[in-house]
Amino acid sequence: MCGIVGYIGCEPAGPYLIDGLAKLEYRGYDSAGICLNDGKELVVKKAKGQLAVLKEMTDNGKSLSGTVGIGHTRWATHGEPSDVNAHPHLSESGRFAVVHNGIIENYQQLKDYLISKGVVFRSMTDTEVIAQLIEFYYHDSLIDTVIKVLGKLEGSYALGVISRENPDEIIAVRKESPLIIGLGEKENFIASDVTAILSKTRKIYRLENNEIAVLRRDSVKIINTDKEEVHKEVETVTWDVDAAEKGGYEHFMFKEIMEQPDAIRKTISPHIKNGRVVLDEIKLTHEQIKSFNKINIVACGSAYHVGVVAKYIFEKMLRIPVEADLASEFRYRDPIINDKVLTVVISQSGETADTKEAMKEAQRRGSYALSIVNVVGSAIAMESDDVIYTWAGPEISVATTKAYSTQLAVVYLLALYFGDILGTIVPDEYKALINQLESLPEKVQTVLGHKERLQYLASKFFNSKDIFFIGRNIDYALSLEGSLKLKEISYIHSEAYAAGELKHGTISLIEQGTPVIALVTHEELIGKIVSNIEEVKTRGAEVMCIACDTHPEIKDVAQTVFIPKVCDMLLPSLAVVPLQLFAYYVASLKGCDIDKPRNLAKSVTVE
Ligand code: GLU
Repeated sequence: MCGIVGYIGCEPAGPYLIDGLAKLEYRGYDSAGICLNDGKELVVKKAKGQLAVLKEMTDNGKSLSGTVGIGHTRWATHGEPSDVNAHPHLSESGRFAVVHNGIIENYQQLKDYLISKGVVFRSMTDTEVIAQLIEFYYHDSLIDTVIKVLGKLEGSYALGVISRENPDEIIAVRKESPLIIGLGEKENFIASDVTAILSKTRKIYRLENNEIAVLRRDSVKIINTDKEEVHKEVETVTWDVDAAEKGGYEHFMFKEIMEQPDAIRKTISPHIKNGRVVLDEIKLTHEQIKSFNKINIVACGSAYHVGVVAKYIFEKMLRIPVEADLASEFRYRDPIINDKVLTVVISQSGETADTKEAMKEAQRRGSYALSIVNVVGSAIAMESDDVIYTWAGPEISVATTKAYSTQLAVVYLLALYFGDILGTIVPDEYKALINQLESLPEKVQTVLGHKERLQYLASKFFNSKDIFFIGRNIDYALSLEGSLKLKEISYIHSEAYAAGELKHGTISLIEQGTPVIALVTHEELIGKIVSNIEEVKTRGAEVMCIACDTHPEIKDVAQTVFIPKVCDMLLPSLAVVPLQLFAYYVASLKGCDIDKPRNLAKSVTVE
């Protein structure tokens, strides 16, 4: 889970590599490095820490000469973040350089073998073994050697390889970890995702598993591991270049929070025609939909929290049992899945390794996999049986906001679409829901207008050691997301609790001044949650509520942020916004690195 870039052309490679890495830093940022062929040597500069360190060390890439090079921003899996463990890794004599995203599972065996043959290793990474193997087996053809080495590697990898003797070639390989090829005029690129090349070209090839690209200045050839040429369609990326820039905002996270009305609109509008939900892109038939007796949702992190919201919505509206599962657990618990179970797979990047493997496990057991994905052409999108894309655009901040919101929007579309087919939603309710769904973007905009109030409330809480989030039903599912958002970017310990469950244990942690954020939006349970709020207030808690403006009396219970009233199913889209803004302002007041929280990375392509 790191960012890879590569350049071969007629311009100096260094500045491009640094610029491309800056776009990919969300993927990993514990160290970074670049390697250029200067015509004589492979020159490597790499350093522990964020890209800023490397930028300074190399004068933004200008201090290195050469028109071919590779770069990497790392999220360490093997070997601590350090200068020596940073990529690119050189082979022993410095003839070959490699950048790698993924994990070589059998690296220790390969390393032991090479050491027994006298090869000297410098780093603790699994990656170095690839560079050393290439040198060990090299005769006269780099491509033949790379293919031979691939045959020895187990695990996942996207690779960029350059050699000292051949300054006219980059070799790129993909297996399980993402990699795209950018096609320019007398220049070509490799990158982990399109954001890194958008300023240079919109024409790309998307590498599939086990494909190898040979990049020269004026050509790109794609072959398979039998050296047969693979003919691929050139894809044109339609994403806006500005969408991958901060556009005047201090942080990507804030920009992305503010983009939510637009992102939700773009996700919903193409799917509503003449007052009905239309999902033309899916192949799932009405008969299949009627044949399912269970829905299983697999996802990780915030996408899993969307899954928990979806469980409440689907069960209520479709009357089908639903399980929301953490993908990393699902795979290994011998799940009871068959062709009567629909598996809904949720992933922003479409490359999340745990989610992808969980999906494959479900498919192996006969289940139909429907994915909700943001990145077009990503692995999960391609390998699922059906995909519905969210149109959030590139999400750069590690803490997700607009991807979460657009995933929720797709959940609503699915609930309406399935409910209509199953006959579990009556026509009047359907019509009302469609109307409210269409007005959701402007309601989200209204909630964004409360940002100053959230900033004020954040200033009251930002010094806290622990913050609790409570809610019932869908409000509980939202508490999970509110709590995760806060802890991942502000480093304040936080727990989400089903409000009714507090008294069974956790209430013992409430003491004078403990902040509790209570979600009070679920109409049927307002009385119950208000009682839970009183319980914690009695024990000294300082409570902040999120409630609907149809219940102004809640402000007598605690300081409250009001959101517009919509039907219960759609409320999460409004209630999550104050939680995102609260987390953002708390982290900002604490001076945290909001877009790049410590130890995390966005696209988790390792298991
Ligand atoms: N396994 C490699 C390392 O630890 C690459 C990790 C990554 O994908 O960032 O260096």
